[in-house]
Parts: sequence; C-alpha cells; structure tokens
Amino acid sequence: MRIVVIGAGAAGFFAAIRAAEVGPEHTVTILEATREPLSKVRISGGGRCNVTHHCFDPAELIGNYPRGQKELRGPFATFQPSDTVAFFERQGIRLKTEADGRMFPITDSSETIIDCLLSVARARGVDLQLEKRVTAISRAGASESHSFAIGLARGDSIFADRVMLATGSSRQGYRLAESLGHSIVPCVPSLFTFKIQDERLRDLAGISFDTVELRLETESKPDYRAVGPLLITHWGVSGPAVLKLSAFAARPLHDCRYHATLHVNFLGSESIETAYDALVNHKQRYARRQIRTSSPHALPKRYWARIAAKSGVSETNIWANCAKSVMQRMAQELTEASFAISGKGIFKEEFVTAGGIALTEIDFRTMQSRVCPGLYAGGEILDIDGVTGGFNFQSAWTTGWIAGSHMVRFDTT
Ligand SMILES: Cc1cc2nc3c(=O)[nH]c(=O)nc-3n(C[C@H](O)[C@H](O)[C@H](O)COP(=O)(O)OP(=O)(O)OC[C@H]3O[C@@H](n4cnc5c(N)ncnc54)[C@H](O)[C@@H]3O)c2cc1C
Repeated sequence: MRIVVIGAGAAGFFAAIRAAEVGPEHTVTILEATREPLSKVRISGGGRCNVTHHCFDPAELIGNYPRGQKELRGPFATFQPSDTVAFFERQGIRLKTEADGRMFPITDSSETIIDCLLSVARARGVDLQLEKRVTAISRAGASESHSFAIGLARGDSIFADRVMLATGSSRQGYRLAESLGHSIVPCVPSLFTFKIQDERLRDLAGISFDTVELRLETESKPDYRAVGPLLITHWGVSGPAVLKLSAFAARPLHDCRYHATLHVNFLGSESIETAYDALVNHKQRYARRQIRTSSPHALPKRYWARIAAKSGVSETNIWANCAKSVMQRMAQELTEASFAISGKGIFKEEFVTAGGIALTEIDFRTMQSRVCPGLYAGGEILDIDGVTGGFNFQSAWTTGWIAGSHMVRFDTT
C-alpha cells in the first residue's frame, strides 16, 4: 500500500513517522511544496520551538483550544503532551519546562527538533520528496475506489491508497480539501496583539503587569474575559492575557475590523471599592508622601505615576491633599480602565489561523475524512487552533500521530 502525506510540517512528519512505524511493509511518502521541510518548526518560539505545554490532563488541556476543544478530547486521551515528551526522550532529546508551562528542547534551538524528526523519518524509511507541490487530487476510478491520483505542479502524478492532507494554513491545501468534498470554515488570524493609541500608555513600552483581568467588549455578546500577564508595547498591549483574548475572540474581532473596547483591571480581581479603601488607608498612613511616587498597590512605578497624573495629581501633590474625587478616579483607573482597540498587531513568536476543514467532517478516532474514505487530515488545516504556549504544535503532533496510526489499516469505514 502507498501512503502519501502532503506537507512536511509538524503534523505531516508525525503522521509519516508513525505510519512507517506501524506499517513498515508499506511505502510512506511525504510530498513537500518547498525545498525546506519543517520550516515553521524552524522559526517557531523565536527559534527555540515551543514543542508542547506542561499540561498532562486532557480535560484541562482542551481548555486552551478556542476551536477544537470538544473534538480534541478523545485524541488527547490517545496522544497528549506526556507522549510528545516521551517521543522526543526516546530519541535522546530532553525538553525543559519554563515557569509558565511552555516546554522547549534544552538546547533552546528548534534545529534540535528538526534534526530529530528528519533522522527518525530517515531511519524508518520515509520517502521525503521536496519541491513537490500538489495541485490536484482525484479519486483514481471506480474499480480502485480507495485509490487517489495526486497531480503535481510540474505535471507528474503519483498514485496512492491513502492520502493525508497536512498542508497547514495554505490556501492550496484548503482548495484540495474542497475538491474532495470538504467544506472550509473561513479563515481569520488568531494570536495577535492589540493596537491602542492612548496617552496612558505612551512611552511606557516594556512595562509589564503580572496579573490583570481583561474584558473584551465587541459587537457580539457575551464579552470575552482573560486573566494573566499584560505587556505594554510600542503599539498597544500584548502578553499572554491579550493573546488569549485574541484567540478566543478571533472571529468577532475580525468581524468588527479589530475595533473593540478593552477593559482592564490592573489589580487582578480586586474590586473598585477595595482599591478605593486601600487609597484611603494609604492617605492616612503616608499623608506627607508625594502621591505620584507612593502607591498602595504593587504596580509598576511609572504606570502608577501615569494613573495619578491622569486623575489630576500634580508632581508635588502629597497624600494629605488628595481629594476624595481624585481617589475615586484613581480607583476607577486601577480597576476599570477602558481602552479603545483600533487594530491588530503582530505577535512574532507564534501565529496561527482559525478556520479550516469543518470538524464535523472528520472522524477524530482515526483522523479519516467522513466525506472521502481513504483521505486523512491533521494539523492546522483543520478548524483547530490553540492559545500560545505550545498548544498548536501539540494538536499537530496528536492529530498527525493518530492519522499515522490508522492510515496503514485497511478498513476505510
Ligand atoms: C512564526 C511562528 C511561530 C510559531 N511558534 C509556535 C510555537 O512555538 N509553538 C506552537 O505550538 N506553535 C507555534 N506556531 C504554530 C505552529 O507552527 C503551527 O501550528 C504548526 O506548524 C502547524 O503544523 P502543520 O504541520 O499543520 O502545518 P505547517 O507547519 O504549516 O506545514 C504545512 C506544510 O505543507 C506544505 N504545503 C502546503 N501546501 C502544499 C502543497 N499544495 N503541496 C505540498 N506541500 C504543501 C507547506 O510548505 C508546509 O511545509 C508558530 C507559527 C508561526 C508562524
């Protein structure tokens, strides 16, 4: 039997490696359009490759996927981050976990992962063909109902008994899927930063907050919420909490052309009343101190000074002279600050697309198409995406692994 995987990315490599392991008697070929396999792995995680996330409970893990949450539950019971770690360890590659749960090779180099995948594929006899862009796939004919003819850009064609689409977010990949009967959920970007032009943030790029509570108000209801670190950038805001919102609200944000309102509680879950009480207590204890340099809250000093200035405090004002109305404004700025988002910024470390093959058309026990027997799909071509932190590669490893395990079997039901 000939198994052809289209796309030499994370999902395609894992599928091919697994298929060659489970069915060594079969021919496993990867067709890659470019001359460079695993190119996204190379640039991933700022060149360090955030391979997966230190989250070994499938029920918790799925919470990190705005799209694909329900569908990934079963696959993660089969192959989850601990299996990814074990796979790389078997190849002699150790992963380390950073404080936020992201896992990287201890070499801090994506080349380690690329070298590993290339060498395992080679050892298992996977036939990797570069510069082979697939332009068409057709069912070869009624007498060979499980066979496919794969057309290549230069006019050649290859026959296959099983085909896997692992073309990531390439438009051509979506067109191939459509040509075989699949519907494509329209694609929109996910994982981006928010552009905000606001005096309160001006010249404060680089300042970060450990835990803020964010609420994103778009035209669609309900609002989206996220808790976590926030970073002020030259163009607006970034950081895990912002990226999470951008992923969960990817579609409504796209629909409103990235114009929305971001509400920030810089004190995490503290209420405006508690924030106000802390200001009153501080005034009583430190009456002689200057307001702009003496804050009752654990905030970056420059941001506190900015809030105080915005609330009408001059450079020399001391707490003894702080009016009730000023403290009310400061409490509001601390816990209910609103910012107008005017666009989408770029997050250089990771980028994914929401949208792809409709999930109802895939059998997640095998990753086989429900509309085209013998066809499999995995990775970013599916309407699945995760928040930042290694979750996107994990869904590619998992779906690739499952497809590889099943493609070598004969039943196509
Ligand atoms: C800058 C950046 C950094 C990232 N960092 C991380 C990270 O650290 N951690 C994380 O979890 N995720 C990260 N991601 C997301 C992650 O890279 C993707 O989720 C993952 O690569 C998807 O794997 P895939 O195999 O489905 O697709 P891809 O990796 O995109 O592979 C698809 C392959 O198919 C080939 N192809 C397309 N069309 C055809 C065709 N017609 N014929 C033949 N071949 C074709 C492409 O050339 C490509 O090689 C990052 C993404 C970007 C852009």
